[in-house]
Formats: sequence, C-alpha cells, structure tokens
Amino acid sequence: MKIADALICTFPSFSFEFFSPKSDEQMAQLLETIGKLRRLEPLYVSVTYGAGGSTRARTIEVVTRIKREFGIEAMAHLTCVGASQHELREVLDRLASDGVKNIMALRGDPPRGAKDFRPAPDGFAHASELIAFIRANYDLSIGGACYPEGHFEGATGRRADLDEDVRHLVTKVNAGAQFLVTQLFYENERYLSFVERARAAGIRVPIIPGIMPIVNVDSIPRIAKMSGSNIPASLIHELERRVGNPEAVVELGVAYATLQCAELLRLGAPGIHFYTLNRSPATSAILSALKIMEPWRGVKRET
Ligand SMILES: Cc1cc2nc3c(=O)[nH]c(=O)nc-3n(C[C@H](O)[C@H](O)[C@H](O)COP(=O)(O)OP(=O)(O)OC[C@H]3O[C@@H](n4cnc5c(N)ncnc54)[C@H](O)[C@@H]3O)c2cc1C
Repeated sequence: MKIADALICTFPSFSFEFFSPKSDEQMAQLLETIGKLRRLEPLYVSVTYGAGGSTRARTIEVVTRIKREFGIEAMAHLTCVGASQHELREVLDRLASDGVKNIMALRGDPPRGAKDFRPAPDGFAHASELIAFIRANYDLSIGGACYPEGHFEGATGRRADLDEDVRHLVTKVNAGAQFLVTQLFYENERYLSFVERARAAGIRVPIIPGIMPIVNVDSIPRIAKMSGSNIPASLIHELERRVGNPEAVVELGVAYATLQCAELLRLGAPGIHFYTLNRSPATSAILSALKIMEPWRGVKRET
C-alpha cells in the first residue's frame, strides 16, 4: 500500500513512529509494543533512520518485519547524512527489493559535534534533492518533514525564518513529497497558522500533525532542545508540580495530548502521527479515547 494513496481516502489517519532499535533488547521491546498497538489499526507505522545512518540495517530489518509479521504498512525513514548518491541508491534498492513502498525522505541532522549540515561528497544538501532523486528513480510513495514553528537546528539553536522555511517546503513538495508530517508541537495554534501559511504558498498535500505526549518531567529540556518546539509554561508548571509522582505526570501528559488531538481533528486535521518512543501505554490511551469520542464526526477534513 502506498501511504500517499491511502491518505486520500482515509480520514482520519492514525500512524505511529518508532525509533530504530540499537540492540536486541530494544528490538524485543519494540516488537512487544507493536503487538500491543496493532489492535488500534494504524494506517501505517514508520521507523526512523538513526543519526548518520547508524541504524541503516536495523531500519530496513524492522520495516520489513513489521510488514511481514504484523501485516501493518511500514514506512522507512532515510536521511542524506554522510551518504553519497551511490550509497543512497544501495539503501533504496534494498528497500524496494524488500517490498517497501513508502519512504520518509529527510536531510537529517549534522553529525554529533558538527554545527552545520554538510552534504557528503556527491551527496545531497537538502531533503528536496533526495526526494527528487527518489521520484526520478523509484516507484515509491514519499513523505517529507515540516516544522510549524520553523525548522530548528538543535546543534546551534538556530531557527529558520518561517517564510523562508515554507518557500523551501514548496520546493520539497514540488520535488515529489506527497504528504508532510510535522515536528511535534504543544500549541495547536502553531500548527493551524502554519497550515494556513502553507496553503497560501500553494502547498496542497496533507499536513499531518505529529504529537508526542510528555510523560516524564526530566525529558522536557531534551524535547525542547531537540525539537525547538515551545512548551507552554503552564504545562511545564503543572508537570513540575507532579515531580515525585510519575503516574500523575503520565496522566497529565496523556490528558493534555488527548485534548490537543481532539481539537486538531475537530478542526479538520487529516489525522495524527504519534511519536511513540517505542512505548505503547500513552499512545494507546490517547487513541482509544479518540476512537470513543470520534471528534472528527461530521467534520470536513482540511485537505
Ligand atoms: C516527521 C519527522 C521525522 C524525522 N525522522 C528523522 C529520522 O528518521 N532520522 C533523523 O536523523 N532525523 C529525523 N528527523 C529530523 C530531521 O532530519 C531534522 O529536522 C533535519 O535537521 C532536517 O531535515 P529535513 O528533511 O526537514 O531537511 P530539509 O527539508 O532539507 O530542511 C532543513 C533546513 O534547510 C532549509 N532548506 C531546505 N531547502 C533549502 C534550500 N534549497 N536552500 C537553503 N535552505 C534550504 C530548510 O528551510 C530547513 O531550515 C525527522 C523530523 C521530522 C519532522
């Protein structure tokens, strides 16, 4: 199944993102999580590509196992980091020959210690170049990333100008990105105004909000540094008031994300992409509640 095609006739779409396991233990945990989340019938799941291609073999293995063993459509992420066109072609050939039909095509972050992204010799500088390459050479459905608060370079703390970012997003979509998944965010207003801006710039593909509940107070600085997303002070305050009571933190994080998702769907967002961190309870609770409430009933999807 090609995700781009399925998105046209599915509303809302629910999908789960998993990070690529780095050890056999993590792999076992991931398979257990997928087993638990399967009953929620995601349209697809996606598997990240470790920094610098460090999990290349694992990403391919996990994606093909999910398709084969669970019968769930699985999308492989792929980045340009440290890879020549020849190396990217090797990975894509392998994915295509293993029956993978969907790619989330990304530039990737600069390697640890490096401030700026530098393409490998004969590699690509921007996701749009990788996307054009895939479109020209493979019969794959292609997704791309987008950033409601502007792309944020974690290494330097530099945030892209939103207008410029959207101009580059137009290039990405014109190059062949058939759907977009957003960076996680905690203020729906940021997503809604970003979608408006993207539509005004002529982008017509689905823009799927990416949601990650905060279930651990210690993770707040890391989430903020990695994503550059604003976490409302009132949410941080309430989470911090629960330090020492992990269950109460999870409850609040899940409740907040559930309300966020319900509002997005009520306003016509095409679906929700859950950043699961390879764990099932939070995603399972949020999505189960949404499926009971069906906040999308009677709603006209935004696109
Ligand atoms: C849904 C999602 C999934 C992700 N999965 C992974 C993963 O699996 N592995 C991983 O390592 N990382 C992943 N990332 C992180 C991503 O790799 C980083 O955010 C990275 O810094 C940018 O990747 P991109 O594909 O958005 O890059 P690009 O689209 O290339 O954009 C990066 C920056 O370059 C600018 N830019 C784009 N085109 C041009 C141009 N022609 N000229 C000048 N500037 C330009 C953009 O405005 C932006 O500021 C993911 C992010 C998201 C939102």
